[in-house]
Amino acid sequence: MTTGMVWTERAMWHDSGNQFGPHSQWLEPMPSPESADSKRRIRHLLDASGLSEHLTWIKPEPADEEALLRVHSLEYLQRIRTTAERGGGNIGTKAATHIGANGDELAALAAGGAISAVDAVISGQVDNAYVLMRPPGHHAERSDGKGFCIFNNAAVAARHAQVVHGLKRIALVDWDAHHGNGAQQIFWDDPTVLAISIHQERAFPQSIGAVEECGAGAGLGYTLNIPLPPGSGEGAYLAAMNDVVAPALEMFEPDLIIVPCGFDAGHLDPTARMLLTSESFRRMTQIIKALAARLCGGRLVFVHEGGYALQSVPFLALATFEALSGHRTQVKDPFLPTMQALPMQQIQPHQTMLVEAAAAMVRAHPPKANR
Ligand SMILES: [Zn+2]
Repeated sequence: MTTGMVWTERAMWHDSGNQFGPHSQWLEPMPSPESADSKRRIRHLLDASGLSEHLTWIKPEPADEEALLRVHSLEYLQRIRTTAERGGGNIGTKAATHIGANGDELAALAAGGAISAVDAVISGQVDNAYVLMRPPGHHAERSDGKGFCIFNNAAVAARHAQVVHGLKRIALVDWDAHHGNGAQQIFWDDPTVLAISIHQERAFPQSIGAVEECGAGAGLGYTLNIPLPPGSGEGAYLAAMNDVVAPALEMFEPDLIIVPCGFDAGHLDPTARMLLTSESFRRMTQIIKALAARLCGGRLVFVHEGGYALQSVPFLALATFEALSGHRTQVKDPFLPTMQALPMQQIQPHQTMLVEAAAAMVRAHPPKANR
């Protein structure tokens, strides 16, 4: 088993600005939580644990304009370019999304990293891959940046897999704690991309991601939302994976599965209120890896999204990498015993209701494989 790792130090130099939270003259400026630190600390634990030596390191190339225009508008690309030329600034029209002086180039590099991972998996160079790049992508819409995201890296990679490699059906399984609004908007009426989002109900963006939102036209049933209440733990997430994601993927028969992977549903995250542990991410990765093995020859690409708790994110990521690569290290997650013992790790009745509502949507609008 070989797992690819897309990484470059250059991506850590993306400038995400000094803004977090609503605009207010009373909010003292502070660094964005989307910083290089959490990604570097993941890399450091992979190195310290020895797991790095078992990964195939892949150097990303920037996505070209053709690849970006499959997902984004020319007007949006030009706005990002102009902002970068002016020395940087906010490129979002609603939620502040900052880039620095070479933010256009670094955002294209992050999208290109996702493309490099798809190329490596489809060519057979590696069995699966993880893209540890920034800025993240899953909030980026066709013509707007949001929530630290500039280009929708996973969406660009999905279209690349279809156009360049001729794959028909791509499934996105987004388990970042926040809604995968970008993919929902970009693929809303498209039956060739199944966009699944498991997220904290109304966390961000607040106005989108309800269970009733399921695509339109030819794409009806190919958007699937699993909003979970704050306080959800491993039981709720495993039920969502087993009772909603698995049957949907089995109906859809994807040729490739892409996981926009955030670790902000982890127990200490400052931007969400979920309870997942390193073991939860290990089990969720094992489930999606088994589904990929059964449905699409194991073709699986993880694209890094959120996850801001500096102390715990490296352990959540290490467990994910261990499950992806099949190599177990000696590392013991020091947070695991206390977090695993929380009673709320068991699924609660109000969480079961939401999982059942999402499962009912799959039965009402089955995302069948179009041939
Ligand atoms: Zn997030």
